[in-house]
Formats: sequence, structure tokens, C-alpha cells
Amino acid sequence: MLGQKKRLEEERRKNLNQIEDLKKNDPFADPDHASDNAAVDTDVREQVGHDTIEAEIKDLQKRATEIDNALKKINKNLYGYCERCKKSIPQARLKLIPEASFCIDCEKRLRK
Ligand SMILES: [Zn+2]
Repeated sequence: MLGQKKRLEEERRKNLNQIEDLKKNDPFADPDHASDNAAVDTDVREQVGHDTIEAEIKDLQKRATEIDNALKKINKNLYGYCERCKKSIPQARLKLIPEASFCIDCEKRLRK
């Protein structure tokens, strides 16, 4: 399971970098934004850009929580077990989604 821990830590780092990058690209992050007297269409574009970035950051933060959760489980030797039915999650699935908390069956049931 050592490989998975490394992978999760790597994913977490990438995830944080992505969040930082998105924050930099947020038009609202520009200190001149409020005072630039931009045309209305520019303001609208900035608003849309801001909303899109906010949504993307939210998704990334959700994933960050899942990765943190998986890392905690590695430390407690609970990693790789489904949180719902407690069966072990197949390696193939963990390779694809290292932060997976549920086996495929439970995941499907929970999504319904
Ligand atoms: Zn399960």
C-alpha cells in the first residue's frame, strides 16, 4: 500500500497547485478589477469566469477532502476497504481512483 500513499500525496499536491492556479486566473483576483471601469460586457465575462473558477475550485476541494480521507485511512490501516459494506476494494479500482471510499457496487447504489 506504500505506492498508493505516495500516489495520493502526489495527487494532493497536484490538486493544491490546481486550486492555486485557478485562484490566480480568477478575474476577481485582479486588484484593479473593481476600479478598472471596464465595459459592461467585460464585467459580465469576468463574472462568468469567476463563477466557473469557483465551481472548479469547489470540485477540487471536494476531491482534496476525499484524498485526505484516504490518507487518514492508510495511517489507520483501513485503506482499501469499502466504507459501506467493509469488503476490500479491488486493486484495479484503487489504481484508477486511489481515493475511492466505496466498492463499485456501493458507489452505484449511493449514486442512485
Ligand atoms: Zn461496498
